[in-house]
Amino acid sequence: MLLTISTTHQPATDLGYLLFKHPDKCQAFNLSFGTAQVFYPEASETKCTAALVLDINPIDLARGKAGANRQTLEAYVSDRPYAASSFLSVAISQVFRSAMTGNCKDRQELADTAIPLVARIPVLPSRGREGFLRGLFEPLGYQVNVRRLALDETFPDWGNSSYFDVELTHTIKLSELLSHLHVMIPVLDDDKHYYVNEDEIEKLLRHGEGWLGTHPLKAEITSRYLKRQRGLTRDALAQIAVEEVAVETPEQETQEDMIEKPMSLNQQRMETVVATLKANGVEKIVDLGCGEGKLLKLLLKEPSFQSILGMDVTYRSLEIARERVLDKLPTHQQGRLQLIQGSLNYRDARIAGYDAATVIEVIEHMELDRLAAFERVLFEFAKPRIALVTTPNIEYNVKFENLPVGKLRHPDHRFEWTRSEFQTWAQAISNKYKYSVEFGSIGAIDAEFGSPTQMAIFTAK
Ligand code: SAH
Repeated sequence: MLLTISTTHQPATDLGYLLFKHPDKCQAFNLSFGTAQVFYPEASETKCTAALVLDINPIDLARGKAGANRQTLEAYVSDRPYAASSFLSVAISQVFRSAMTGNCKDRQELADTAIPLVARIPVLPSRGREGFLRGLFEPLGYQVNVRRLALDETFPDWGNSSYFDVELTHTIKLSELLSHLHVMIPVLDDDKHYYVNEDEIEKLLRHGEGWLGTHPLKAEITSRYLKRQRGLTRDALAQIAVEEVAVETPEQETQEDMIEKPMSLNQQRMETVVATLKANGVEKIVDLGCGEGKLLKLLLKEPSFQSILGMDVTYRSLEIARERVLDKLPTHQQGRLQLIQGSLNYRDARIAGYDAATVIEVIEHMELDRLAAFERVLFEFAKPRIALVTTPNIEYNVKFENLPVGKLRHPDHRFEWTRSEFQTWAQAISNKYKYSVEFGSIGAIDAEFGSPTQMAIFTAK
């Protein structure tokens, strides 16, 4: 069982400080189920790779406690010594215990910094499902490279196995990478070699802090991590900060459309966005929180928009976008549009380098305390030349006849802002990240309440 972690952050050998393992040494650690070794196959100024090799003896396993309930040959002939599983997960948390805390007295600043990291796991089980594997890591911002392993290379006819050779690439803190691996590996394997009780909830909360609460597969991750024990899963989910990201169901969407319908506000919004983008001469656009792709469809009609990326955290919305927009494009046009799953609360290299970013009716779906993370993701890291952000103007809600007083326009909205709240927020961003900002109105303007939708146009200075 093998895991390697590489970095090109220079001096790359500082990885040794972060892992608390010296690059010149080969160290062995005795664990209750086998031996773990840590060494560096490569350690130069420019690139450094640490390897964790775990040896477990299948005979001991079969005869010991872990195999006690298996009376059959299966206990002796299993994938356990080779495939990444809860054994590796436990080894990570024991051998790299200090690194996982994020504390590092010799290189604290580096431990607090997102650095380019690549984790490789040559045999990762995913019961044959590549989509699930991607669904776990991509929303956290990883670039996921997978190769499905054959059942037996000498007999190609036998087809594929349920194991993958996986490479995960991300610019991220080492402690975060280790936490993600520790949680996701047994989740993929869907098993644990030890008895799971309440203590496991505490571990999950600790290792899941800051990301599990907003992960689109949070429920599935929690259930599998807790070995599918219903009671534990329910308790854990109740404790994980209720930060769940918007899941736009078609019913809810219709509801919002109905409220705003009389003005076909959605159409006006999209048209204003397209016109603003055209006026700014942009060619490469990323639509963040693209949902089912209504804006993407309109953007594609404009030949000057050469390359368009849609990102959303909800896999189902993306599937709908794929069916309604991508699959309907003529083949020669399909290269213009790409759809990816990702969360706006995590730094993500895939959304950097665009002329323009559109964030249309998305921010109000985020918890207020997640907005600061989103601001950094967009304005500090993705850094588009232009960013268009729209959100409802709550002052206008009194004008919607179908909307009960005091209600927000959509059950999933976490907040709706007045014009001055929105402008204060946007001004603060423009000061902090060297953007200038202007404001626009979308929809019919009321003298007292303003327009139904408000828009901020940020331009990089
Ligand atoms: N922009 C689209 C969809 C708006 S609905 C339109 O105007 O029609 C809000 C969308 O934001 C949903 O699809 C939701 O999944 C997405 N979303 C909410 N929080 C997100 C986050 N943190 N990261 C990425 N997408 C998010």
